[in-house]
Amino acid sequence: LDLRDEDLEELQELGQGNGGSVKKVRHIPSGVVMAKKIVLIDAKPAVRKQILRELQIMYNCHSEYIISFHGAYISDPNICICMEFGDKGSFDGIYKKIGAIDIDVVAIVAMSVLEGLIYLYDVHRIIHRDIKPSNILCNSKGQVKICDFGVSGELINSIADTFVGTSTYMSPERIQGAQYTVKSDVWSLGISLIELALGRFPFADSESDDSDLSDLEHTLSPGRPISMSAKRQAKEDKKKKDRRKSKGVSLQGGGMTMSILELLQHIVNEPAPRLTPEDRYPVESNNFIEACLYKDPEVRKAPKELVAHAWIQETLDSRPDMETWASTF
Ligand code: ATP
Ligand code: MG
Repeated sequence: LDLRDEDLEELQELGQGNGGSVKKVRHIPSGVVMAKKIVLIDAKPAVRKQILRELQIMYNCHSEYIISFHGAYISDPNICICMEFGDKGSFDGIYKKIGAIDIDVVAIVAMSVLEGLIYLYDVHRIIHRDIKPSNILCNSKGQVKICDFGVSGELINSIADTFVGTSTYMSPERIQGAQYTVKSDVWSLGISLIELALGRFPFADSESDDSDLSDLEHTLSPGRPISMSAKRQAKEDKKKKDRRKSKGVSLQGGGMTMSILELLQHIVNEPAPRLTPEDRYPVESNNFIEACLYKDPEVRKAPKELVAHAWIQETLDSRPDMETWASTF
């Protein structure tokens, strides 16, 4: 498809992220409905063209676990990325709508994300870098697919220049500045799975009203240096919080409010979260989560080991009907 703005009819706003906004559009000449992501790139035309070239790799990504690519084009000062539309939305929206997600469905999400990661890495040597519920999509066939992977180094750089993309799905080694590996994606998957199964972000207090924290609050604000002193950070956060009518990130159980920086320190220093209460979840599911959340990336399991895990295999054997599940919301 030869894509351009004039041929795309806007149907619906799907959401806003840190990098840009996403709209549901119809490509008028072909009738194809797609998702169009508009990314504002503050870069020279040459860099924009380089990004566009790098994005072409996505034409060669063919997997039932990866959102497919329709094309990308420059629409100054933006880059527009057109992709397969996930008509049931992303899993953050799904659990916010229907509540905690059934553990069998969570196992299918785990399997799908792992298969997607394995495909990206084995075939294209791509590491996703941004696994989280808003980047895991569902459609009405009950298929689960990942999107927004780090295909373009230039795009990652350009967004990083304008935004500190440190999110709370980040692995301990990444928080401490180590290189991304596939194991970092596995950590992010573990956190995301707990979030879906509990129906809330695992580091937020269930007793407080913070469970509907927007993604923005899981991410450092634009330009905010990560090295900012904890004290100053706390002050800043207090100001922000007052403005938002006292909404902060609370530690599980403790009821103590902490800043994003404290949360990142918590991820590095404290035991990894689990599915609790334990008796509500299959033992195998917590065993799997544990394997995703070893602090040491050397010990943490790789995607191929995890797809073979008993929790995944037993769930697959029971053939959960994802299409029927997806028809309930
Ligand atoms: P971040 O910018 O931190 O990655 P995000 O993933 O929420 O956060 P976007 O990637 O801009 O931000 O996406 C915004 C929203 O648009 C998502 O939450 C998702 O619900 C929706 N969305 C994105 N891509 C698609 C798609 N291909 N099909 C359907 N909905 C989509
Ligand atoms: Mg996204």
